[in-house]
Amino acid sequence: MTETEQDWRAIIHRCFRCGYCKFTHEYSDLNCPSYKKYRFETYSTGGRLWLAYAALKGDIQWSNNLSNVLYSCTTCGNCMQNCRFEKFNFLLVDVIEAARAEAVKNGICPEKQKVLLERVQNQKFFNPYGEPSSDNEELKKAYNLPETAEWVYFIGCTSNYRQKNLRDATLNVLKKANVNFTLINERCCCSPLIRTGQIDPINDIVKFNLAQIKNAGASKIITSCAGCYRTMKKDWPKFGADYKIEVYHTIELVKKLIDEGKIELSSEYSKTVTYHDPCHMGRHMNIYDIPRDVIKQIPKINLVEMKRNKRDALCCGAGGGVKIGYPDWSIEISKERLNEAKETGASILTTICPFCKTNLSDANQQFKMRFEILDLIEIIDQLKLQKIEP
Ligand code: SF4
Ligand code: SF4
Repeated sequence: MTETEQDWRAIIHRCFRCGYCKFTHEYSDLNCPSYKKYRFETYSTGGRLWLAYAALKGDIQWSNNLSNVLYSCTTCGNCMQNCRFEKFNFLLVDVIEAARAEAVKNGICPEKQKVLLERVQNQKFFNPYGEPSSDNEELKKAYNLPETAEWVYFIGCTSNYRQKNLRDATLNVLKKANVNFTLINERCCCSPLIRTGQIDPINDIVKFNLAQIKNAGASKIITSCAGCYRTMKKDWPKFGADYKIEVYHTIELVKKLIDEGKIELSSEYSKTVTYHDPCHMGRHMNIYDIPRDVIKQIPKINLVEMKRNKRDALCCGAGGGVKIGYPDWSIEISKERLNEAKETGASILTTICPFCKTNLSDANQQFKMRFEILDLIEIIDQLKLQKIEP
């Protein structure tokens, strides 16, 4: 039994079911997407923990009904932020994910989520979208990238298979900023597997990705994906990562280059934008100000905030295997987020996560909401980026 497994088994009974975790920090709104939909304690954090505990003790069976309760959580982390029990709140999502791993061991992983594992393990794909594995060697040639470099841009599956504009904008910005980077023959970062409790192959996949990074001579990773970022920083060390690397989200690197006086965003962008905090960057990694600071560096941009923002931001609805497991509900959550964005008067909704962008764009299209939804790096790529020579 690993240290993490021991931890979660020892604390799972500690929830008092007081219910603070369902709300924003001032209790003005319900902010647990799962409880908001089902309006039943079972679908709150407390309900999940108590049912998983009962199953662990053998008081109830591991069943498909229990599996539905465990998997209808976006792992958004609102409960971690608002549970008042400080010795325990930061572990809540870890506990839900560990209970899912237990569900997998007991044979009740839902069929739709099982597909994620099948695709990531398939030698033709190595990604959760089941698309032929991307040829990053071709991209390396197209962007004239070296074999070895200080940085590796880890593209991530959603940017490579669903948000190529975002990927290309990132490549353009890194080139324009003169960053010494390259690409690797990457496999899924394993976020979808960790979130859905399908953890058996993860050590090997992490090892493979790290070997590629080592071969590229790199000591730093840049990722444009919030999910990859959290997974590489927080989860890879739990799954045997033995190679010390620094992980930066693209927006952190852009901020660093601006702060060091190496680049300047010098053209105007006279539009009103609102910013959606991805759960993986915000509540899970505590990064709220960096993207806002970068937005404020863009001349003439008007940044307006949604009612629920930063630690209270509503999840886009895609995370934790919910998009593949409950596609209609997942889009409903994004629709609610878009309605909140509409109240700000912004015409552009920006974020720093390809998975949030995908789900918000799907809702935008389905409900004809007429937003322009752009990753922040796509906005930056449209600007004139002034390189400042030392
Ligand atoms: S997880 Fe925390 S806030 Fe939520 S019901 Fe349990 S003790 Fe209360
Ligand atoms: S992680 Fe989000 S969806 Fe899951 S129980 Fe916590 S608040 Fe609800």
